[in-house]
This record gives sequence, C-alpha cells and structure tokens, in this order.
Amino acid sequence: MINLYGLELTKLEELMISYGQKRYRATQLFTWLYEKKARSFDEMSDVSKSFREVLNKDFCLELPKLYRRQDSKDGTIKILLELNDGSKVETALMPYRYGNAICVSSQVGCNMACAFCASGLLKKKRNLEVSEIVGQVLVMNSILEEKNEKVTHIVVMGTGEPFDNYDNVLDFIRIMNHPKGMAIGARHITVSTCGLIPGIMRYAHEGLQINLAISLHAPNDEIRNKIMPISKGYPLPKLMEAVKYYEKEANRRVTFEYIMLKGVNDSLECAKELVKLIKGTLAYVNLIPYNPVDENSFLRSDDKTVHAFFSYLLQHGVNTTIRKEFGNDIDAACGQLRAKDQHEKGN
Ligand code: SF4
Repeated sequence: MINLYGLELTKLEELMISYGQKRYRATQLFTWLYEKKARSFDEMSDVSKSFREVLNKDFCLELPKLYRRQDSKDGTIKILLELNDGSKVETALMPYRYGNAICVSSQVGCNMACAFCASGLLKKKRNLEVSEIVGQVLVMNSILEEKNEKVTHIVVMGTGEPFDNYDNVLDFIRIMNHPKGMAIGARHITVSTCGLIPGIMRYAHEGLQINLAISLHAPNDEIRNKIMPISKGYPLPKLMEAVKYYEKEANRRVTFEYIMLKGVNDSLECAKELVKLIKGTLAYVNLIPYNPVDENSFLRSDDKTVHAFFSYLLQHGVNTTIRKEFGNDIDAACGQLRAKDQHEKGN
C-alpha cells in the first residue's frame, strides 16, 4: 500500500494519471490531506465513490504513533513517535515569540558520530520515509490543535543528517512549502547539515528559498576532527568553498551553528580563528549553549565565556546570536528522549 503522506504534488499527479485520473485529482487529494485535514478517504466527499474504493484498496493515510510525550513549563513539547517497524523518532516543538518551531528528525539514528551528540550515540538504522517526516509535523499539529495553534516554522535539525537522506528530505520540504500542502513559507524552513559538501552543492541549485544552517562547532580542523569526524572527509577549507559557492548560486546566506563546549572551542583564541575562517562569507553565527548528556564528558561553557565569545564576534563585524534555550526541565538535548527510552527498556 502506498502512503499518500509520502508523495509530493508532482509525484502524486504522475500517480493519479497512471490511475487514469485527471491531473487535478492530485491537487484535490492534497487539499483534503493538508488543508481539510481528512484522516480517511471516505471523508473526501468530492471524490467519486468508485475512486474512493480504489484509494481504500491501494493507498493508506498512515501517521506515526505517539509513543511518549514530555511537556516543559516553558511550553516546549517533546514527543517520541513509533514507526511501523518499531523504530522510534524524536520531535520537538519550541514556542518562540514569532511562532511554533518544530525540529524534525530525518533518520533513525545517525552515522555522523559527533562526539557531543546524544542522537549520534545510536547508529543510523535507516533513512526516514517522506511520510514519516511529514507525520512528525502532522502529529505535532494535532497536539497543538488543542490550543488552536499550529506549526509555523520547521527546522530539520533533529536526529540524522538531512543530506544523507537528501531526496526524502527535499520531498518533505516540497510538501511543507506547497501552497496546497502545508503552505509553510520557505523562509520559515531551515535544513541543518553537519557539512556534507555534495549535499550543499546540490542544494545550491534547488531554486528554493529555504534556509541552510551548517553545524560548524569549531574554528579549525584540529578541534573539529576531534568532535566531528565528518571533518576528516570534508575539511574546513573545502567546506568554506562550498558555503561561498552556495551563497553565490542560491543567493542566500547561511547560518553557522556553534555549540559552546567548555574548554574545547570556547576560548577567545577560537573566536579569533572563527572570525578569520568565515571572513568572505555573509554568514550569521548562532552560538548554542550546550545541554550536557550523561553519555559523554563535555561540559557547558559558562555564561561569562559565552558572552565574551559573542562580544568578540560582534565587535569584529560578525552577525551573531545566542540561541534561546528551551525545555531545561525535560530531556532538552536532541536525541536524549529516545536514548533515555532505550536505556530504560534495556535495548
Ligand atoms: S549532531 Fe546531527 S549530524 Fe552530528 S551525530 Fe548528532 S544528529 Fe548526527
């Protein structure tokens, strides 16, 4: 059975045509799925009964199951979803002043092995299907419906490396961004990569106005090799060339994410190197206070150090922000809820 949540509009059109239907049938189904929020084919009253029978026979509308939920006092919601094969994925919702931002996962586990990351502790089991990424947004929306709210911003920054599941992530984005789909503006969607250069080069030509964030986390390869093994295959000089290429081709600036790790990458010397490294790009830097996890020994930089680093970058002309923190009273770090669940179950 084909899960209709897994098909972006042009693929759905092709499929409908192969079923002897007119092209517009796809748009009609899309509207039912995402605008009218139908959860069964029988609700689709302007689709003929005979075609609804075909839909019921060959297609399904399947969403991941809500398995576990944590609510923070600050409004952050973390959910663990169970997929068809029993795998679990984690999704988080952060309530910003400007809207509700969801952080979705793109893979079950992750092979990038960033040393500070709870998600990377669980090796990649498989890529998520398009419907499983879409499902994270739809399940979160059904939770938000209780208070008449919805997801307004998306970051693909949860478990997994999005460019290691490129095609599915892009189809997911097309569904989210399409006016007949979830109609979430391109500028409200961000994909975050740890630096897979082939993905960045390809993304430069998608013609989308989606934001790109790069997890940098170090100002030189010596430090980066220790905390992000990806750097050995795609060293910083090459990554910077790719960023400049992207900025030129896509006419968009990137954001560099930089997790502040005590005594590792947070010295003023590092700030100085960082300014030098990103010179010539239009990038913003987003400093992220670290959420320590039990499974490694990294510590959070103290506030004074973070502010000194922040001020240095600003004084040297780099647009810099410090990320607002959410969910400190729940398992705030990415992948922590899933890791905890596995630990509790001893698997
Ligand atoms: S930080 Fe991202 S890319 Fe690195 S291991 Fe964690 S999930 Fe994977």
